[in-house]
Amino acid sequence: MNSKLPDVGTTIFTVMSRMAAEHSAINLSQGFPDFNCPEKLVDLVDYYLRKGFNQYAPMQGVPVLRQKISEKIQKLYGHRYDAEEEINVTAGATQAIYTVSSAVINPGDEVILMEPAYDCYAPSVKINGGIPVFVPLKESDFSIDWDKLAGAVTGRTRMIFLNSPHNPTGSVINETDIKNLEDITRNKDIFILSDEVYEHIVFDKKKHISVSGSKELSKKAFVISSFGKTYHTTGWKMGYCAAPRNLMKEFRKVHQFIVFAVNTPIQYAYAEYMDNESHYITLNDFYENKRNIFLKHMKNSRWKIKPTSGTYFQLLDYSGITKMNDMDFAETLTKEAGIATIPLSPFYNDKQSGNLLRVCFAKKDEVLEKAADLLSKI
Ligand code: PMP
Ligand code: GLN
Repeated sequence: MNSKLPDVGTTIFTVMSRMAAEHSAINLSQGFPDFNCPEKLVDLVDYYLRKGFNQYAPMQGVPVLRQKISEKIQKLYGHRYDAEEEINVTAGATQAIYTVSSAVINPGDEVILMEPAYDCYAPSVKINGGIPVFVPLKESDFSIDWDKLAGAVTGRTRMIFLNSPHNPTGSVINETDIKNLEDITRNKDIFILSDEVYEHIVFDKKKHISVSGSKELSKKAFVISSFGKTYHTTGWKMGYCAAPRNLMKEFRKVHQFIVFAVNTPIQYAYAEYMDNESHYITLNDFYENKRNIFLKHMKNSRWKIKPTSGTYFQLLDYSGITKMNDMDFAETLTKEAGIATIPLSPFYNDKQSGNLLRVCFAKKDEVLEKAADLLSKI
């Protein structure tokens, strides 16, 4: 069969998690917590399952959950999305990203992706006939290089993918970035896909800046988030997309034929649990503390620590340790040191190795300490 994605193999997250399991290594590779979600949330799912909420949800998502999402966005970022027409619940952010790509991209359209880029972006552009145009983030701090980005915009640019807080680098955007994005897209037929799945994981008193908070950008943006990151429930695969009604109309045309609707009892459970705002308000501190525990134990190591301002990922520079390429070094570390990490090269189109590995610190404190101690011995 002629492959539609000839250059795509198995995602690095699956490769590394599998390798971690095979070698009984501490798994700091694929991003997911090793602790449980709140008990109350499980009780709520149980409640709705037993109450008989077990049939198809409306394809847009259950109204009460869309209402809660709308209220949260308005409260945090100041923009009101209409719960009926401008919010859609999805089977995770991955499905939302794919659905936006399918709804927006026509064959030959150019889509700007910033590198390093989360691994599902380029395939979802390509499989829909789009041409990914890669713009590197600045090497120094992984902030957006606006000159390079402006230079990449052409008459065929259809969409720009933005991701803040950024996976895998942990960089976050600021108000100037929003202004620059407004300038670059003003009076142009360019849409924005804003992947904000780590919106509640931002450190050092910084604030998450949502594209929905810009009057100008919210008119042309699909804003995507994921409950999995916020509620320690990555396995439940639920997220949402918010967009103005003319864009949401197109999104739904595709959504209804990709999944139609997503898990009913879990939607009701999240809707009720979202009343507990303290969960996402305290999440920043919760993960900042985990980052700090990990870094404290890495203090006397040969690894160079890259600053991380958000997400639950930390980049480590191993240039002081070995000249191996990142794929080989990640494999060696898993097999010989018992720590699985994610090499950065799969996040680049040319797959060229640098000296960086990504670790996930959404782990129990004692696991972080043990992992950091093992890494410090290298
Ligand atoms: N975008 C980014 C930047 C991510 O890190 C992830 C997942 N970890 C996703 C999207 C996908 O989220 P979900 O698991 O809800 O599909
Ligand atoms: N987003 C998670 C990460 O970056 C992984 C999700 C997945 O395995 N697809 O590690």
